[in-house]
Amino acid sequence: MNLLEVMERFPDQESCIKFLESVRWGDEPKCTHCGSNRVNSRHERKENLIGRYNCQDCKASFKVTCNTIFHRTKMPLQKWFLAISLMINAKKSLSSHQLARDLELNQMTAWNMMQKIRAEMSKKSSVLLKGIIEADETYIGGKPRKRNKRADDEPVKRGRGTSKTAVIGAVERGGHVIAKVADDLTGQSIMRFIKDVASVDESELMTDEYRGYLTIGKEMKHHIINHKEQYVDGDVHTNTIEGFWSLLKRAWYGTHHHYSVVYTPLYVAEACYKYNYRNHENVFDKFISDSMII
Ligand SMILES: [Zn+2]
Repeated sequence: MNLLEVMERFPDQESCIKFLESVRWGDEPKCTHCGSNRVNSRHERKENLIGRYNCQDCKASFKVTCNTIFHRTKMPLQKWFLAISLMINAKKSLSSHQLARDLELNQMTAWNMMQKIRAEMSKKSSVLLKGIIEADETYIGGKPRKRNKRADDEPVKRGRGTSKTAVIGAVERGGHVIAKVADDLTGQSIMRFIKDVASVDESELMTDEYRGYLTIGKEMKHHIINHKEQYVDGDVHTNTIEGFWSLLKRAWYGTHHHYSVVYTPLYVAEACYKYNYRNHENVFDKFISDSMII
């Protein structure tokens, strides 16, 4: 959904609340504290009180936004919806300064909203990769450097002596990518990551010659492309994951390079989310309905 569609579909707070309620509860509002359906609507007129209910059982009051990313927000929901749509549709990544200008927010508010949206995008998906899987690692953060990691002569030294953050990823060809910040790139850690994200029995792993992949390589079909010699050998290549790294890096260096590495996991999660749902018919509705699963 683009901005105009969001504004037409959700012209005011009430329409936003109605939508969230239908996604979270269907026709039957339930108390967010005790789960009871014996609830009364309070018919508030003040904008930030619209959608408030009282529970007859536990006597608490609640809204559909309880325990979601919209919990206790003072921001009109329409702005949230616009922010979600803008972030999903941004080709690279959106800066909080840009969002602040677009939605007339202050920059810190925009930044906080975006971090919450990214945190939602980072919720673990139930997707398990299978089939042909490419795994690789990369580094982000710090200044962009011209020197390709492929120029590193000693693969065992990867990640050492750099201020950059190591990110490990695996992608199913034609399917999802799963990537995360890696504490280290030892064979054991890489094996844990691959076993966590992929169905080892139903997959073939494609990697470069880095020795860290040999441990998991003993437990599944493993094809190695030696990048010192060539980049593609028939089906054996890591071009898909390399393509994802370049998306991630474009977003990172174009927009977020001045932020702390503490937030790297959230930016990685955003890039994965956008990659995984790039062909989805309605990512906005998917995002909202996932955000209502508590
Ligand atoms: Zn209750």
